[in-house]
Amino acid sequence: MLDCLVIGGGAAGLTAGVYLHRYRRTALVVDAGQSRLQWIAKTRNVLGFPDGIAGAELLDRIRAHAARFKVPVEQGCVDRVTALPEGGFEAFAGSRSWRARTVLLATGARDVPPEVEGLKDALKHALVRYCPVCDGFETQGHRVAVLGTDVHGHGEAAFIAGFGNEVTWLSMGSRDALKPEQLATLEQLGVRIADARPRRIHCAPGQGVTVELDGEEPLRFDMMYSALGLRHPSGLATALGANAHEDGQLVVDGHMQTTVPGLYAAGDVAEGLNQIGVAAGHAAIAATAIHNRL
Ligand SMILES: Cc1cc2nc3c(=O)[nH]c(=O)nc-3n(C[C@H](O)[C@H](O)[C@H](O)COP(=O)(O)OP(=O)(O)OC[C@H]3O[C@@H](n4cnc5c(N)ncnc54)[C@H](O)[C@@H]3O)c2cc1C
Repeated sequence: MLDCLVIGGGAAGLTAGVYLHRYRRTALVVDAGQSRLQWIAKTRNVLGFPDGIAGAELLDRIRAHAARFKVPVEQGCVDRVTALPEGGFEAFAGSRSWRARTVLLATGARDVPPEVEGLKDALKHALVRYCPVCDGFETQGHRVAVLGTDVHGHGEAAFIAGFGNEVTWLSMGSRDALKPEQLATLEQLGVRIADARPRRIHCAPGQGVTVELDGEEPLRFDMMYSALGLRHPSGLATALGANAHEDGQLVVDGHMQTTVPGLYAAGDVAEGLNQIGVAAGHAAIAATAIHNRL
């Protein structure tokens, strides 16, 4: 019986693994290897790296840090967690299973991908971006497209326009869903609106992003934010009865415990801002609470 099974080995899961092992607890991290960190061209808001650091390199460093404290990590995708009658949990990944007194869910989030040719390369070169909280600062003086419908697209366009740039909202025809005062705000911020649905979006390093619209001249930008939303993979917890918000983020208390006793959540899958620093903070709080309850 492990003290804690950590599901997910990204920023939150590996931080929790390090804390738990430094508390001399038996903890195992099971990871499917799809951390969002790998898509970050260069993050500049992680303190200690004033010149920025590529997400893949940061992930390597976090993994090396966990290895230094001998945190065991197994590759695999947990597909089911059950509550044991005598207390604790059992988790399954195909034919493997583990029993643990507590479980920490650190399964992150998945971005809804936009239809962009060569999306992986576009993300790696920061031509297509997902997170203005992370890198909106770097859009100053640039031409920026924001792809997203309704209130979400509108909100992100307005947020990004606060960074001193030239924003065009690709509304995909959803302008009508907005209230007149919301449209007035965009106008005040100098945001242009392109209503036609993009027929093709392609990017090339050094040439930026080209958006081809039906019956109109192509639009060219230095970068594009996709505001199509995120999905939080919290099904393992909700199947145990944990409460979640509509987007899948888990409801947690001040110790990062979900509404199921002994089941904790940290990082993007737990309610809160989706950031590396937040994920590490969640994990530190959760690991300490788990250590104190055992
Ligand atoms: C393009 C991009 C740029 C970003 N830029 C920044 C930035 O500059 N600054 C910043 O602070 N944040 C940034 N972020 C956000 C940051 O990457 C996340 O907030 C952070 O990675 C969250 O950590 P996490 O541990 O919750 O999730 P992740 O790091 O995504 O790790 C989750 C892990 O859980 C695994 N997993 C999922 N389900 C299972 C399962 N059932 N069984 C086993 N394993 C599972 C996944 O495979 C993955 O390895 C960016 C994100 C993206 C996509």
